[in-house]
Amino acid sequence: MRFLGGCREVGRMGMLIDTGSEKFLWEYGISVQSGEKPIQPKINLDGVFVSHAHLDHSGLLPQLYRLGYDGPIYCEPATLDLLSILLRDSLKLQKREGGPLDYLMTDIKKLERNVRFLKAGEREDFTTSSVEFHHAGHIPGSVMPLLENGGKRILFTGDVKFMDTQLMGGAEKKLKGIDVLVSESTYSYTNHPNRKKLEDSLKKIVQETVYGGGICVIPSFAVGRTQELLIILHELGVPIYMDGMGIRATEAILRHPKSIRNHKILQKAFSRAHKVERGMDRDRIIESPCVILTTAGMLNGGPVVHYISRLYERPDCSLVLTGFQVPGTAGRTLIDTGKFVHEDLEVKPRMRMEFLDFSAHTDHDHLIEFYKKVKPKKILLIHGEKPEDFAKELRKQGFEAEAPKNGETVQVS
Ligand SMILES: [Zn+2]
Ligand SMILES: [Zn+2]
Repeated sequence: MRFLGGCREVGRMGMLIDTGSEKFLWEYGISVQSGEKPIQPKINLDGVFVSHAHLDHSGLLPQLYRLGYDGPIYCEPATLDLLSILLRDSLKLQKREGGPLDYLMTDIKKLERNVRFLKAGEREDFTTSSVEFHHAGHIPGSVMPLLENGGKRILFTGDVKFMDTQLMGGAEKKLKGIDVLVSESTYSYTNHPNRKKLEDSLKKIVQETVYGGGICVIPSFAVGRTQELLIILHELGVPIYMDGMGIRATEAILRHPKSIRNHKILQKAFSRAHKVERGMDRDRIIESPCVILTTAGMLNGGPVVHYISRLYERPDCSLVLTGFQVPGTAGRTLIDTGKFVHEDLEVKPRMRMEFLDFSAHTDHDHLIEFYKKVKPKKILLIHGEKPEDFAKELRKQGFEAEAPKNGETVQVS
């Protein structure tokens, strides 16, 4: 296995697996903030597997077709639907920024034509290998690919969450006989707060704001978070507006009822929510108290910038961040300095500000619980800021664990 990116960092995933007779690429993503890319693989591949639609795992896939790759990409049906939205949006942003484009629309379309669906629980056989997908509980369509070759079994967690949330059922845990487990380690250094308590805190903030006559702005990631928040908030009976890419992402997810826990509830919540269709409606909706679920989740662009620019002086309004804020984003700057900085806007909002960490990743204790259950012979930690510390901790507990570096090759024997 050669690690092309995503080691000792969160972003630009890519792993090359050479079985001797086949070559597979697992993930091919981009670091969304920095634009950093994984090492470019040769395109003589027998198949490409993608665990879910987030761009750190998938954002460069169209480039493979630009480079001449002509083969299949395997993913869940919901992943393709979401990927189509995210890649088009990403291309639009690239064009706006004016730099060299990573790929063209024709490459996205070629990718879409070359996708072969593999659902959680299904297996694809190759000459000497097979790959099976297992449910990962992270976002709709997310899977853990398991490769088997010559009696060796390599499991990759992708991004994983074991606990049930309002939106997703937790990841599959009954996996046995794993030789190598390639594990994400985003939150390997900490545990998440109790989710029920987070949900209650969110409801309380929303009610206090709206009953106090204010607007509660909740920037949220389009895929996963928006839908979870919609389910949590729809029963409060307060007006909810959706703005930005979350609308189309929700429509896409609703086309795949089995990718979520409770399709009916999401459908009901979505049909009750008001959708902001035109930019000119934004100033009208903030004339009366309401909740606004909008992109971007890390405040670096999107309709949320407009809402903050209109409401920042109002202490009766609130701004609730609901996910991880990557260093360098406007969201992180706001948490660290209390200032909202975007292009030529620099303000110190007087709105009530809250940070509730609704993570779609698992945490320290649940990772260890999973390793104890699966008993892999070897654990390779990637997709984290400091996986080498976690590897050390795991070795003390008797696991064989390592944190490979980008460019490193690991022999599975
Ligand atoms: Zn993800
Ligand atoms: Zn990720």
